[in-house]
Amino acid sequence: RDSEERYRMLFTAMDEGFCIIEVLFDDDLTPIDYRFLEVNGAFEKQTGIQAAKGRLMRQIAPAHEQYWFDVYAKVALTGEPVRFENHAKELHRWYDVYAFRIGQPEDRHVAVLFSDITERRRIEGQLREADRNKDEFLAMLAHELRNPLAPIRNAVQIFRAKSPPVPELQWATEVIDRQVYQMTRLVDDLLDVSRITRGQIELRKERVELAEIVNSAVEASRPLIEKWGHELTVTIPPQPIELEADLTRLSQVLLNLLNNAAKYMEQAGRIWLTAEPQGGGVLIWVKDTGIGIPAEMLPHIFDMFTQVDRSLDRAEGGLGIGLTLVQRLVEMHGGTVEAHSEGPGKGSEFVVRLPVVNGETPQGAARDGETVVSPAARRILVVDDNRDAADSLALLLRMKGNEVHTAYDGLEAIGAVAVFHPDVVLLDIGLPKLDGYEAARRIREQGGGAGIMLVALTGWGQEEDRRRSKEAGFDHHMTKPVEFAALQKLLAESHPE
Ligand code: ADP
Repeated sequence: RDSEERYRMLFTAMDEGFCIIEVLFDDDLTPIDYRFLEVNGAFEKQTGIQAAKGRLMRQIAPAHEQYWFDVYAKVALTGEPVRFENHAKELHRWYDVYAFRIGQPEDRHVAVLFSDITERRRIEGQLREADRNKDEFLAMLAHELRNPLAPIRNAVQIFRAKSPPVPELQWATEVIDRQVYQMTRLVDDLLDVSRITRGQIELRKERVELAEIVNSAVEASRPLIEKWGHELTVTIPPQPIELEADLTRLSQVLLNLLNNAAKYMEQAGRIWLTAEPQGGGVLIWVKDTGIGIPAEMLPHIFDMFTQVDRSLDRAEGGLGIGLTLVQRLVEMHGGTVEAHSEGPGKGSEFVVRLPVVNGETPQGAARDGETVVSPAARRILVVDDNRDAADSLALLLRMKGNEVHTAYDGLEAIGAVAVFHPDVVLLDIGLPKLDGYEAARRIREQGGGAGIMLVALTGWGQEEDRRRSKEAGFDHHMTKPVEFAALQKLLAESHPE
């Protein structure tokens, strides 16, 4: 009796709702209702139902969802306890519920322990909404910030080629170049991470050798590593290791890790990049003798915008999304990444695990060399409603010996094609008056339009966009801001008829 008294007190005093119900079935064992046998003090506050004891739920709330009756019936019949969250529309509340059978099975008594979580659900909803807004804002921001960068980079190249040999001017050009490069990197990271978050990145997977991925990352990280006087040791197995992977994206992963190693280390440190086959995959370590990572930060290091020490000299600064990108890209390749560190001052180690392609040897010949032949002079029409972008690209192309015209909207582009008869049209997609897809279609229909090389220039490089531009009659698709070198390469590869 003492014990029962104690438990009764507990249920009366506690702040969660508690009740014992008897589940009522029809002859086919279909649950039709339940009756409240006992309720505790908090029951009324948690449900808004007064004097429930002895009454039937269907009488109290006729529209109470069938779900509730089914769940309690199952507990009563099977004796298996359940925990769930569900909405009760007629009570205008959400509940977190734990239900278990008590007494003899044939009694069909169920004890229900629950709390009203409406407020929590509302706040969670708001948080999700805020998070979505943030992602959308970031994507928009990155997209908008990216556009002005292309003309600035073009203008810098022109300056480089043409500016008189005045040391101050050359210095100023270098400063703009470096800073714009840095800004492009930040904006690209931001754009990448928001695209990945929104599931908008597709990998272009192909068979690649690990060595190729490593080389590309090491090449790209060299300037930063040398700048700080670090020593990099790369050890990869002599036998080829093949991955089914997106070369650019995986190089980006290793590059981010190498750059971090270089950034978060005093001058003249050491970095090791080591790869070894293990199990059905390959392990890649990037290890440094740098400032290390405090143990309490390790679990959060891959979270977006996480930075250990914001007060750090931010000369090589980032936004705290490099490692988020690393993790997401590795996961998209079916791999994992971990961070280890013995603590501040003890260096850091990042371990990437990736699946490899089993067995058979690579097919076909070696990859084409990267030699860029200087393209023959062409007649090129550049179409972009961002005048700076169009004009600067035109000027650069002219400096390479091409004959170049510009147009700033879709209709103008069609007119220009008729008069100028270009060999190549570089056509922006988001254009006023007539968008790039429609302009491309009409250009193809014009006399002589079939032989023109049409290149789409867009801010969005997803599969869907590529498919649409192909349908509209484009031969190629380039994502803005266009790397001038990549454009040169494209022009060189496609010789005029
Ligand atoms: P960012 O470098 O732009 O700040 P990252 O996502 O690449 O963003 O890295 C997040 C944080 O993790 C960094 O700000 C730094 O504090 C820490 N970190 C990353 N790599 C290392 C490393 N190799 N050694 C020490 N700390 C590191």
